[in-house]
Amino acid sequence: MENLKKYQMYIGGEWVDAASGDYFETDNPYTGRPWGLIPRGGQQDVDSAVNAAHRTLNSVEWRGMTASKRGQLLRALGDMLGEHAPHLAEIEVRDNGKLYAEMSQQTEYLRQWYYYFGGLADKIEGAVIPIDKADNFTFTQYEPLGVIAAIIPWNSPLFLAAWKIAPALAAGNTLVIKPSEFTSASMLEFAKIFEKVGLPAGVLNVVTGFGVEVGAPLAVHPLVAKVAFTGSETTGKRIYATAAEGLKKVSLELGGKSANMVFEDAHLDNAVKGVISGIFAACGQTCVAGSRLLVQRSIHDNFVHKLVDLARTARLGDPMLSTTQLGPVTNRPQLSKILDYIGIAKQEGAEAVIGGKQPKEASLQAGWFVEPTIFIGIANSMRIAREEVFGPVLSVIPFDDEEEAVALANDSNYGLAAGLWTSDYRRALRLPSQLQVGTVWVNTYRAMSYMAPFGGYKQSGIGKESGQDMIKDYLQKKTVWMSTQEEVPNPFIIR
Ligand code: ADP
Repeated sequence: MENLKKYQMYIGGEWVDAASGDYFETDNPYTGRPWGLIPRGGQQDVDSAVNAAHRTLNSVEWRGMTASKRGQLLRALGDMLGEHAPHLAEIEVRDNGKLYAEMSQQTEYLRQWYYYFGGLADKIEGAVIPIDKADNFTFTQYEPLGVIAAIIPWNSPLFLAAWKIAPALAAGNTLVIKPSEFTSASMLEFAKIFEKVGLPAGVLNVVTGFGVEVGAPLAVHPLVAKVAFTGSETTGKRIYATAAEGLKKVSLELGGKSANMVFEDAHLDNAVKGVISGIFAACGQTCVAGSRLLVQRSIHDNFVHKLVDLARTARLGDPMLSTTQLGPVTNRPQLSKILDYIGIAKQEGAEAVIGGKQPKEASLQAGWFVEPTIFIGIANSMRIAREEVFGPVLSVIPFDDEEEAVALANDSNYGLAAGLWTSDYRRALRLPSQLQVGTVWVNTYRAMSYMAPFGGYKQSGIGKESGQDMIKDYLQKKTVWMSTQEEVPNPFIIR
């Protein structure tokens, strides 16, 4: 038995085991072996965490803290995260297999969400209404929603959690976080840093465990006011249905089947890089993966040729090494899912011009690797063009003109993002408003910022994350009426 690092959960400012005393193993996708033990939480742990968050919500310590102080503490958290960024990145890589080169940038960038929303904390102002009724003074104020349940997936755990934690705390809520069972360690390491900042105990709690054992009871808990979820469409819909029972608010950031569209007038070498990074960065395990390449027929063969040439140079290997360009996929079930979809595409008549299998190199046999795969001969009606694979698998679909490109891009249940490669500024201005997606990238792909709202149209989700408006998604507005009359008028008339 290997020496596995044993973690505890963080509830009410205490480090605790699961009430059951059970653990489960967390694996390293590169070695295919377990490296840590994570507490297997359940209903009782969810109750403890939600109760702790609820107690703190109404405590003098938290309720009485000024918004400026909250902001200051969030900025201090940002500073501390910056100091620990390399360590956090190592943990992320060990658990989800993404490249250290990418995760270290991500953990370094993380702090900006805490700075930005920390800065916003004391800039939320209500209004005095120039009310139409005489002798009344009427104003609005913003108040926190309450306890927020944040349910996080495995692809970018700390990053996607920051999108929820920073605005939720800036707005004065408290949180219970449930990381993915595949990547729980980084959130527990984050909590170790968080506890040093000096926010009241119970403001942030982390319960680890499986979706049905922790996520489901958390999402239906009567003291939870809002569920902020990033993950699969299936789970998102389940959460939405159960949240409806308790009239809880939700934000859902779900899947995508995003079109990366390349026109014949594009700078082709840039477009090749953009398409490659859109689908092979993070091994295609991002909700915004540009998994459908729509390419103008006049350049189809040439462009596919260039893509294959570049994809062929991708070095698969240890995600910790700076020379590696493609790491393993995050977990065994995901590996099977990707291989199943590759099989489905082949059955549907698609032709793999590169990849389409697991690599043969001896050094890659322990880990969960898939070759970068490009399919041609795809019709937009095929399953491989409609369903989210979440892996390094690109489907190439030709189009004749702009109208057809837009129609194909929009012919999807999803609406998360789209990429557009063109040198024609008129087209670049014309197309974004025709695309039914939450984000359009023109001559770039996968750019994100704490300042820029992000979220899906259609089946890709509900609500936005990041950007200053969305702090209001963690607040509710109250209207206060005050009479300035000396006497209460006729009580039998509503005013
Ligand atoms: P992914 O494919 O990204 O893992 P999931 O939707 O399965 O997508 O998982 C995202 C998060 O949702 C994880 O933290 C997972 O444990 C959690 N989860 C899974 N099933 C449920 C459920 N029924 N209720 C609440 N959370 C769940």
